[in-house]
Amino acid sequence: MAYIITQPCIGVKDASCVDVCPVDCIHSAEDDEQYYIDPDICIDCEACVPVCPVEAIFYEEDVPEEWRDFTQKNRDYFAAKTDEERRAFRTRTERH
Ligand code: SF4
Ligand code: SF4
Repeated sequence: MAYIITQPCIGVKDASCVDVCPVDCIHSAEDDEQYYIDPDICIDCEACVPVCPVEAIFYEEDVPEEWRDFTQKNRDYFAAKTDEERRAFRTRTERH
């Protein structure tokens, strides 16, 4: 289990969560539409949740129904290890 960043982060990306994460597992590239949490590194400390101005972060089990696909989206972001794979991932997700 891990915490998941969902839809409200898109277009906001203020990085408040990044500043408080003790294990540095929240990442994004400049041209990514949102931040993502690496589920293999997140320690479920919940520090990022109260600092998010748009309430975009949820515990995996509590992600609202309409944003369930963001769980896989966060996971896929870190599964795409090379820059080329990440570019392909962005192109795929932007089409949705
Ligand atoms: S729950 Fe804790 S470890 Fe996980 S992303 Fe948030 S601040 Fe980082
Ligand atoms: S604090 Fe919220 S809006 Fe800001 S980058 Fe993190 S998840 Fe996105």
